[in-house]
Amino acid sequence: ANANLFAALRAAFPADLDATAIETDNGLLYSWGDLERATAMLANLLGSLEIPAGSRIAVQTEKSVEALMLYLATLRAGFVYLPLNTAYQEGELDYFIGNAEPAVVVCASRSFPWLSKLAFRKGVAHVFTLDDDRSGSLLDRAAYFSDQHVVAHKNADELAAILYTSGTTGRSKGAMLSHGNLLSNAQVLKKYWDWQPGDVLIHALPIFHVHGLFVASHGALLNGSKMLWLAKFDPKAVVERLPRASVFMGVPTLYVRLLQEPVLTREACAHMRLFISGSAPLLIETFRDWQTRTGHTILERYGMSETAMLTSNPCRAEDGDRLGGTVGPALPGVGVRVVDDAGAALAAGEIGNVQVRGPNVFGGYWRMPEKTAEEFTSDGWFRTGDVGRFDGLGYLTIVGRSKDLIISGGYNVYPAEIEGTLNELPGVAESAVIGVPHPDFGEAVVAVIVAKAGASLDADALVAQLKRQIANFKVPKRAFVVADLPRNAMGKVQKNLLREQHKALFM
Ligand code: ATP
Ligand code: MG
Repeated sequence: ANANLFAALRAAFPADLDATAIETDNGLLYSWGDLERATAMLANLLGSLEIPAGSRIAVQTEKSVEALMLYLATLRAGFVYLPLNTAYQEGELDYFIGNAEPAVVVCASRSFPWLSKLAFRKGVAHVFTLDDDRSGSLLDRAAYFSDQHVVAHKNADELAAILYTSGTTGRSKGAMLSHGNLLSNAQVLKKYWDWQPGDVLIHALPIFHVHGLFVASHGALLNGSKMLWLAKFDPKAVVERLPRASVFMGVPTLYVRLLQEPVLTREACAHMRLFISGSAPLLIETFRDWQTRTGHTILERYGMSETAMLTSNPCRAEDGDRLGGTVGPALPGVGVRVVDDAGAALAAGEIGNVQVRGPNVFGGYWRMPEKTAEEFTSDGWFRTGDVGRFDGLGYLTIVGRSKDLIISGGYNVYPAEIEGTLNELPGVAESAVIGVPHPDFGEAVVAVIVAKAGASLDADALVAQLKRQIANFKVPKRAFVVADLPRNAMGKVQKNLLREQHKALFM
C-alpha cells in the first residue's frame, strides 16, 4: 500500500466533491474537487522540474488556501515540504536556505527581489512567487498542467516535511518528519478528540508550524470536515463564526484575546463542541475564565515540532476529566516517561525530564547527526528538553524547560511554579521567572512581571507578598514590572533574551 500521507487525506475526502472544503474570510468557497484538481496541477508542476527525489520545497508565503494546497501538492508529488515563518527576515532566511538546500523556493512577491537573489546565490534552481490573493508565478505556471495526477508512492519512513523548531532556546533545528510520523499522529488525534461527521473547524493559526499545518489542517482533512479559514487571527471574526463551527484550536494568547471580546458569551459558543489549546502553557486563570464565560472547558495538549502531539487532556467524558494546568495523559500509542538526570524512572509527583517515543517521534535533526545522537537515549527515547511530573492519574504537568531551570544556592527552582503563584496575585497579568548569574548563589531568581490593563504594580510589594507564600529560596531576589514580555513569532516567551538582558544584575 502507499503510505503517502496525501493518499490517506485524499481517501478521507467526502464522496460529494462539490461540497465546500474551505470557506475563506473573504468569501471564497473551495470545494473538495478544487483541492483535488489544484493539488494535482501543482504536483505536476513540481514533478516537471526534474528535481531529485527528496528535494526540499521551501515556502515562505502569507497564509492562504493556495499555500495549503502547495503543502498537499508537495506530499502528493513525493517531495519534502519546508515551511518558514513569515516573520523571518534576510539573515534568518540565509541560515534556513543554506542549511536546508532546497531545490525550490516559493515566496511572497514582495520578498522576491532579495530572496530570489539569496536563493540563486545558494544554488536554488527554481524560485516562484505566491501571494495571498491567488496571484504569482507558481499558480501562473501550474495553470498549464493537467489536473490528473497519480499520488507518488512513499514508504512510511520517507521524509514528508522538515519543520524548523521555534528557536525559543537557541538556533532553530530542522526536525525531519516522515509520512508515517504525521499520519500516525493525525489518526490518533482523530479518534482521541472524537472528530464527528459534520464537525467544522475554525482555522485561525499560521500554517508554518505543527499546530496550524498539521494538528489543525490534518484534523479537518482526515475527517472530511469543512474549515472556516481566517488568513489572520481576528477575535471578532472568530466569535462571528462560532455558531457555524464546532472545533477551534488556538495558542493561549488567542484565548486571552477572545476573552477580551464582550460578544464572547455562552450563547455564542452553544454550537461548539471543542476548544483546544497548545504550543505554550495555558494560564489557569484563562482556563477558569473560559469555563465561566462560555461553559466550555478548554482541552490543553502538549507537543513539539520533533514529535507532533504527545499528551492530551481527554475529549470524551469516559476518558476522564480535563484538568487545568495539566497537559493530560500520554496519547494512545505514545510513550511518555519522566526520569531523573541519571535516566531512572520517577514516581508520580516527582519532577524530572520528559522523554518520549512512538510512531510520531521524528527521525532526527536535518544535517545535525551529533545533536540528534545527543537527544536520543541509548534505549531510543527522545529527550524533549521539557521538565514535568505525572500525577496519580497519569496526567502530565509541564513545569518548564530544562534550559530554564534555576539552581539557586543548590536548590532546584521551577519557574512555572513561581510564575503560577505570581500570576494569581491581584493586578498581575503574566510573568516570566528566570535565573541569572549570582556570585553567592550560583544563580539568582529574577521575576519579570506584566501588569493587567489599568493596574499599577509595585515590584517590591509583590516580592514581599511572595515571601509569605513560598519558600525563601524560591522568592525572586529582584523583580521588574515591564510593559510586555519578549515573544517569538509563535507567542512563546523568549527567556534567553530576558536572561541576556539581566545577566549583569548581580555580577
Ligand atoms: P526550540 O526547540 O528551537 O528552542 P521550541 O521548543 O519552542 O523551540 P517548538 O517545537 O515550536 O519549538 O515548541 C515545542 C515546545 O513548546 C515544547 O517543548 C514545550 O516546551 C512547549 N509547549 C508546547 N505545548 C505546551 C503546553 N501545552 N504547555 C507547556 N508547554 C508547551
Ligand atoms: Mg524545542
